[in-house]
Amino acid sequence: MSEQVLAVDIGGTKIAVALVDDQGAVRTDAVRPTPRSTDADEVYAPAAAAIREVLADHPADSPALRVGIGSAGPVDTPAGTVSPVNIGAWRDFPVVERVATLVAEVTGVRPVVGLAGDGHCFALGEHWLGAGRDVDTMVGLVVSTGVGGGAVIDNRLFAGTSGNAVHLGHISVNAWGPRCVCGCHGCTEMYARGPAMVAAAQERGWVGEDAKALTADARAGDPVAREVIEIGMRALAAAIATTATELDVRTFVVGGGVSRAGEVIFEPLRRHLQEFAVLDYVVDLEVRTAVLANAGLLGAAALAFSLSPAS
Ligand SMILES: [Zn+2]
Repeated sequence: MSEQVLAVDIGGTKIAVALVDDQGAVRTDAVRPTPRSTDADEVYAPAAAAIREVLADHPADSPALRVGIGSAGPVDTPAGTVSPVNIGAWRDFPVVERVATLVAEVTGVRPVVGLAGDGHCFALGEHWLGAGRDVDTMVGLVVSTGVGGGAVIDNRLFAGTSGNAVHLGHISVNAWGPRCVCGCHGCTEMYARGPAMVAAAQERGWVGEDAKALTADARAGDPVAREVIEIGMRALAAAIATTATELDVRTFVVGGGVSRAGEVIFEPLRRHLQEFAVLDYVVDLEVRTAVLANAGLLGAAALAFSLSPAS
């Protein structure tokens, strides 16, 4: 039987756990809603229950399990801690130690555990089994309620010193722009994240509620919806071109809720890119649509497979 790893995907709305084999097949999985609690242990409890449930099927006499944890960020991979913006109860939460202790308790063997941010896991998943599986180097981008990303360079995750590299949502695309929640000015997210485009449209008199309605109205020709998407995708194009120019990467895989609207997003994005990606080595950069529904979970599995087995 091929080796299975434990993948843990922690998000603001749900926590998914699975045993995944080296072909990327999910053998056993469990999903729990992320509790809206202010207590760190209460938020961790359903994750622990899901891990126990999934490991009930794990052979008892196996060698040390390899575990990959993907979490909403920011993360601190050297410390093994996470402080997700959308999980207020967790500040410097020692998720690596907690999961390692739990897995050791259940299996009798201390596991090897890796941690990465959710944008990094998205990139790893799409690189392993999705839209980037034919390239050695790519950037994965999630455009949703935020804008996140991660880079796989020469088939390895480029994590950065703290595990937060390629934080594309918070690079400035407008040095004279308003102050972002992060403290910087004119960040990509301020224009390109779903709720930002919705708010901009509402300020211009649009009466819809969310990004899904906004993209639907843009598709139907609503001029306000189209205008704010133009602005958002121009900002995203500037951020992608900057990243491509810096990292010398040509393949960008874009996923997340907003991107699922399809051409109404991708057409303006590709058009604006022509104005920003202008140096010879980035003019032919390619924006692809993500294909996996569970790239984050599969990316956590890919992270686990990249860890050295315990000796
Ligand atoms: Zn910012």
